[in-house]
Amino acid sequence: AESTAHLISGRVISAHGLKCKVMADDGAMYECAIRQVLKSLSIDGRSAVVAGDYVWFRAETPQDGMIQRVAPRHGIICRTSRGQQHVIVANIDYLLIIASAAQPGLKPVLIDRFLLTAKQCDVEPVIVINKIDLVDPTSLQSLIGAYAALGFRVLMTSAESGVGVDYLRELLHGKQTALAGQSGVGKSSLLNVVQPGLGLAIGRVSTDNDKGRHTTTTSQLIPLANGGAVFDTPGIRQFQLWDISAGEVAGLMPDIRPYVNACRYPNCLHLSEDDCAVKDAVADARIDARRYDAYCHLLEDDLLVED
Ligand code: GDP
Ligand code: ZN
Repeated sequence: AESTAHLISGRVISAHGLKCKVMADDGAMYECAIRQVLKSLSIDGRSAVVAGDYVWFRAETPQDGMIQRVAPRHGIICRTSRGQQHVIVANIDYLLIIASAAQPGLKPVLIDRFLLTAKQCDVEPVIVINKIDLVDPTSLQSLIGAYAALGFRVLMTSAESGVGVDYLRELLHGKQTALAGQSGVGKSSLLNVVQPGLGLAIGRVSTDNDKGRHTTTTSQLIPLANGGAVFDTPGIRQFQLWDISAGEVAGLMPDIRPYVNACRYPNCLHLSEDDCAVKDAVADARIDARRYDAYCHLLEDDLLVED
């Protein structure tokens, strides 16, 4: 491998085809092409360099460069469909799943959906329930308790009152985080209080809860003042990660998974089939009934792909 001594190191913010937007370590932005030899290493001609990659490039002008090397990846958030992996962002430690307690109202199925994605990608999920100032926090205790009992980290925050913000800032310190969550839950507001002075634009909550607004159309990398960074990419903000088939859902829920092989039918979906070990486990409370409800909700999701 070529020496990196005369190269600039940076991080890929977004990759479109064979062009990448790269942020150098000093914060300067470059448009970079990809060196031919790297292109030939990629399988589908597109994934040689992806958002989140740490790269070394040669500057050709003050704005343009040529990527020479890509560091090995870890923590890849991708969608898999029909055996093909499409990387959305690489080198991520946490998938930060942000929901709001109200305005828009809490929809556990959205959290569950992202939990499956985190499991599928093997990235640690962190659940944040924001706008806690708008509700009585005790009303969320049982939901939060259920997630915590499964070993998920759950935080309650308010970008408005500041509750939970110090803890969130501490958690993100030194970590690479990808943001997930419906529009309007307060992702930008939270980042603004986690890092005072950041000044991300804050939107209004749409009246159409399900669609929301999608003001963020380009990926952003937000370096945190004390180390670490947050990746905000529209591919994750919206629900484009959902590439899981109905038959895969139970296997991605750690508390349900242990039972699936004991069902009578190998392709059992644990709904109305006879001799279903999952339903038996729900009946005698080895599986939490709320989690079985969550499972059934996930199966109704129209974003599921065909088996
Ligand atoms: P994003 O689309 O997820 O980035 O959400 P924004 O950060 O743009 O916030 C959407 C709206 O929710 C704005 O009107 C914010 O002022 C409001 N908001 C954000 N966080 C909170 C919070 O913790 N409490 C309350 N009451 N409002 C909030
Ligand atoms: Zn079953």
